[in-house]
Amino acid sequence: MIDISTLNTGLYIGGEWHDARETFTTLNPATGQPLAELAAADASDVDAAVSAATTAFRGDWGALAPSRKGALLNKLADLVERDVEQLAALESLDMGRPVGMSAAMMIPNLIATLRYYAGWADKINGELIANDGYLGGPVPTHAYTRREPLGVVAAIVPWNAPLMILGWKLAPALACGNTVIIKPAEDASLSILRLAELVTEAGFPPGTVNVLPGVGKVAGEALALHPGIKKISFTGSTATGRAILQNSAVNFKRTALELGGKAPQIIFDDANLEAAIQGTAMGLFFNQGEVCAAGTRVIVHRKAYDAVIDGLKGAAQAQVIGDPFDPSTTMGPLVNERQRDRVLEYMKTGAGEGADVITGGSAPEGPGFFVEPTVLAGSNDMTVAREEIFGPVGVVIPFDTDEEAIALANDNQYGLSATVWTSDVTRAHTISAKIEAGAIGVNGWSPLAPQLPWGGVKASGVGRELGYEGILSYTEPKTVTVVL
Ligand code: NAD
Repeated sequence: MIDISTLNTGLYIGGEWHDARETFTTLNPATGQPLAELAAADASDVDAAVSAATTAFRGDWGALAPSRKGALLNKLADLVERDVEQLAALESLDMGRPVGMSAAMMIPNLIATLRYYAGWADKINGELIANDGYLGGPVPTHAYTRREPLGVVAAIVPWNAPLMILGWKLAPALACGNTVIIKPAEDASLSILRLAELVTEAGFPPGTVNVLPGVGKVAGEALALHPGIKKISFTGSTATGRAILQNSAVNFKRTALELGGKAPQIIFDDANLEAAIQGTAMGLFFNQGEVCAAGTRVIVHRKAYDAVIDGLKGAAQAQVIGDPFDPSTTMGPLVNERQRDRVLEYMKTGAGEGADVITGGSAPEGPGFFVEPTVLAGSNDMTVAREEIFGPVGVVIPFDTDEEAIALANDNQYGLSATVWTSDVTRAHTISAKIEAGAIGVNGWSPLAPQLPWGGVKASGVGRELGYEGILSYTEPKTVTVVL
């Protein structure tokens, strides 16, 4: 087990660690016991971080050559790679994911994102634009755009994949020349606090990256309202996203909002059912189901329905629930007691509304915030099929025609991602075009690779992260014209 007694748990502002006026205690979700005492940033700490980040933006970080910025991002990636086991352990300790998955998937995703955007740092170009001159007059005008950084940006991060999701914000923001203030989630700050130590070790100019652990309603709200911050990049719940959008409007801040989901996984009867069941089960149970893209609505052709129900039942019962540090564990605890109780309440609601509990449906005996992987047979109008549960609970819903499958998939407030399982290539493309979502995976999950844009439509959010979209979203085009 990892020793966290030497980890800095204060406020990281201007390259130094500071104590906060208030602190709060986090719990180990696998045991329910106290884990760490963290600084709780307040509005005056936000002021101090904005001031440090502004100084770095106008000073040392802003003045650094683009290739040097890229080199520092690569250096940070090297240090994360060196400490991958430690970062994985900190994150799993905090939020409950099996540590092997953290080390093999989530932290490597951060490394890949840092390296991808390190490559972009010296390749951010404006355009030379042919034009008609003043009011279409005959005066020749040389015109171009400069792609400039925004300034100080804030990254507000959830607890379900702290370092991976932070990377999607931090890496493009820095590559474009911005400075960053990070607000980790209350329940999972440790891996991000360790990353701050690595930022110092990498040699970033002080103030380029700042970390403010704390409570969302206090520190997060102060960030959204602060006039010195040019953009809020937020990943979290739809309700918080709405509050951030309203608060950001006060100062006309840019926002990128990556919010909740209720992803459909459509399984056609021509699909490779073995692969579909295995992939669908992963979409339900990976990360304890605490995934924005979790495929919690399993929409199955009636001819494949019984086989899918049986397969998902077997996959759920094969999950090994337990200590995230035991190598045989495939599902850890949920992040906290509130989340555990919320998921259990949804299970009860589902049964109350007539869903058939195929397997699971309760919490195992003992300490920690565990719940059973649960498969329900139901319909798309049940609460469990309409609302995001954020736990390992799937609802299997039958359909008869392609049109019905599309209608069921789109009949939800969310539109983050979807998965389509079919061996018919025409059907795959036709259905992909008709589903309302930011990302569609055919015969497998969207890989969340740094090159691929990610984000949702409808109540799943506004804006895209990753890929070239990430560069566009952290820069502002400025038009310069010169009358010749
Ligand atoms: P949350 O909205 O409760 O918290 C997210 C972050 O916002 C935390 O850092 C929190 O402290 C902060 N926050 C809370 N209130 C705030 C306020 N008023 N102003 C500013 N910041 C505030 O979400 P969560 O429970 O941590 O995460 C789970 C949610 O995140 C789920 O809905 C999930 O679908 C979503 N999520 C989305 C994606 C995506 O890519 N779309 C990825 C992961 C998680």
